[in-house]
Amino acid sequence: MTFDVVFLGTGAAVPVPSRGTTSQFLDIHSHTYLIDAGEGVQLALRKNDRRFQKLRGVFISHMHGDHVLGLPGLLSTMSLLGRKETLDVWGPPELEAWMSATWKAIEAHKTFDIRFKTWSDSEPLILLETEKYRLVSIPVKHRIPCCGLKVEEHSLPWKLEGKKAGEARLPYHVRQSLKRGESVEFEGQILDPAKWCAPPPAARSYVYSADTRPCASLLKAAQGASVLYHDATFNAEDHQRAKSTFHSTTVEAARLARQAGVGTLLLGHISLRYRDLEVLRNEALQEHTRVEVARDGMVWRVMSS
Ligand SMILES: [Zn+2]
Repeated sequence: MTFDVVFLGTGAAVPVPSRGTTSQFLDIHSHTYLIDAGEGVQLALRKNDRRFQKLRGVFISHMHGDHVLGLPGLLSTMSLLGRKETLDVWGPPELEAWMSATWKAIEAHKTFDIRFKTWSDSEPLILLETEKYRLVSIPVKHRIPCCGLKVEEHSLPWKLEGKKAGEARLPYHVRQSLKRGESVEFEGQILDPAKWCAPPPAARSYVYSADTRPCASLLKAAQGASVLYHDATFNAEDHQRAKSTFHSTTVEAARLARQAGVGTLLLGHISLRYRDLEVLRNEALQEHTRVEVARDGMVWRVMSS
């Protein structure tokens, strides 16, 4: 069951060849989505060998250019290549009008429909629910309305020991209860699922903070997450700057990761001013044990923590 995040752009605001503006390609259970669409996203997708024609949806965290300017170009190319399937686009309230105006101004020929849905900047909102996973927008604290995203796998069923269940002649409804991890009565005895099934691997989750100060709603959403990608635009020393621009420092990101008990913290949205990434990582390691600095082109396989 795939659950990979490909980091297409991990820099802040100004793109350079080594660090593009924000965009991530998500592959979950072989369904693909784009998380933000900074300028250059199309080429980054191609460089990383990721197909965009099959994208099911695009999530936009906020209207700042380094998160959204790649979207018109990407959608325009999808049309040029003859996409037919409707595309879900989740984002801020201004997004639909901006996209429509852009389509009109560039006289683009559109070969597919876009289903816009606005997230809420006051409470978490389920954007998409499938049998295997859900996507939830998380309000965060930036200079303009902004949401992060939680990608959450549903718990998998317990694996019943078929031979043992067959020998005991367990009926269908009893087997189903055990597979859901529930104790169930059978012929006067209470059966414990742990004795009849192998427990499933823990459900995995990925949280993308978008651009933000550390905040309560992100802390809540990140509780127990397998992986958290957090805004770490600035180093610890530049904390005043982080505060005034509504971003976070390495240490603030790591503190929130520790408080939320996340598995791995990935530092992202890194400002160009920092050359030595190991210094940034070491700052964060003072607060949280598992930390990496995200790089363009990095593929992160989300594992249960
Ligand atoms: Zn921003």
